[in-house]
Amino acid sequence: MPKAQETILEIDLKALKHNFEHIKSKLKTNTKFLVVVKAFGYGSDAIEIAKYLQNLSADYFAVAYAHEGVELRKAGITNPILVLHPIPANFKTIINNKLEPNLYNAKVFNEFIETLANYKQSDYPVHIKFNTGLNRLGFSESDVDYIVERLKKTNAVKVTSIFSHLAASEDLNEKKFTLTQINIFKNIAQNFIDNIGYTPMLHICNTSGVLNYPEAQFDMVRSGIGLYGFGNSEKENKKLKPIAALKTIISQIHNIKKGESVGYNMAFKSDSPIRTATLPIGHADGIGRQYGNGKGFVLINDQKAPIIGNVCMDMIMVNVSNIDCKEGDEVIIFNSKTTAEDLAQTTNTISYELITGISQRVKRIFLQ
Ligand SMILES: *Cc1c(COP(=O)(O)O)cnc(C)c1O
Repeated sequence: MPKAQETILEIDLKALKHNFEHIKSKLKTNTKFLVVVKAFGYGSDAIEIAKYLQNLSADYFAVAYAHEGVELRKAGITNPILVLHPIPANFKTIINNKLEPNLYNAKVFNEFIETLANYKQSDYPVHIKFNTGLNRLGFSESDVDYIVERLKKTNAVKVTSIFSHLAASEDLNEKKFTLTQINIFKNIAQNFIDNIGYTPMLHICNTSGVLNYPEAQFDMVRSGIGLYGFGNSEKENKKLKPIAALKTIISQIHNIKKGESVGYNMAFKSDSPIRTATLPIGHADGIGRQYGNGKGFVLINDQKAPIIGNVCMDMIMVNVSNIDCKEGDEVIIFNSKTTAEDLAQTTNTISYELITGISQRVKRIFLQ
C-alpha cells in the first residue's frame, strides 16, 4: 500500500466483500439482504459501496432521506431503494426516482397516497413501519385496522414490506426487551396479513439483530455497521474488517520550550521541552473538538501520539516527543488494527458517530 501523501480515507473493497459474505453466511437461503448506505455509506462512499454490493447480489438498499436515494439513482443503481425517513416535501422526488418510502404515521401515509393519486400511479411499492418499543418512528400496533381499512380503499400503493426496528439488539442484557419487540412485531404482522389478504415481506433485524437473533430474520435483514466492519461486540468485531482507514501526514514539526503554549487559547502549556507535529486534519474533517486536549490520539510509526491543545478547524497538533518521525511522514488516525471504535472510545462515543462524521472534504481512495 503506498504511503499517504495527504489526508485520505482509504476504503478497502475486499474488506467490504468479506463483511458482506460473513453476514450473508448467517442468513437463511431465502432471507433477503438489504444494505444500508445512508449517510454516505456510513461516511465511506454510498455510490461505490452500492455499486460494489449490487454486483455481489445485494437485494435492497436503504437510505435515510430521499436525496440520498436520488444520488444512487443518478449513479445507475437499479435495485429497490427504501427511504427510511421520507418527508412530505420530498414525495415527488421519491416518485420521480422510483424510491420506496417508509410510511410511518397517518400523515405521511395519507399524504403519500394522495400524491400518488395525482400522478395516477397504482400498486406503488411502500413499506410500513411499526413502533415496537424504540419510540422513534412507526405506527403502533393498534393502528393496524386503520391502515388496512385505508389500504382497501385505494389501489395507489402495494405494501412491499412491513417492518420494525430493534432498540437494543447489540445489548444481551436487554434480551427480554428485544424478544418482546420481536413478539409484538409478529402479532402485528399476523394481524396485518390476515386482514389485507396478501403477504408483504417482514423485517426487523439490523446488524446486531442478525448476529444475536437468528430466529428473527423473517424475509429480509437490514445491515449497515457490520458491512463497514463493526459488530458492536469484541467477539463480532474479530470476524469483521473495518473497511475505512483514515490517514494523513506530518505537515510541520515544532520544538516547544518549557512554558510555551500550543494552539488556540493556550489550551496546552508545556511543563517541559516537547516536540509536536502539526497534521492537516481538523474538526472540519470530522475530528471533533472533544478529541483535543489529550483525549484522542493518532499513530505515527506504530506509536501513539496524543492530540494536544484544542482541535482546530483544519489542523491538530500531536505530541511526538518520544517518536522518531519527520515532516512528510504518514500518520494513521484509524485503520483496521487501531480502529475507529478505539478512537471513538476515548471520547465515550461509538464507531458510528466517528465514521459518519468524516467530512466530504476528505478524499476517498478505493482499494480494489
Ligand atoms: C440505520 C438503520 C439500520 C442499520 O443499522 P446497523 O446497526 O448499522 O446495522 C437498520 N434499520 C434502520 C431502520 C436504520 O435506521
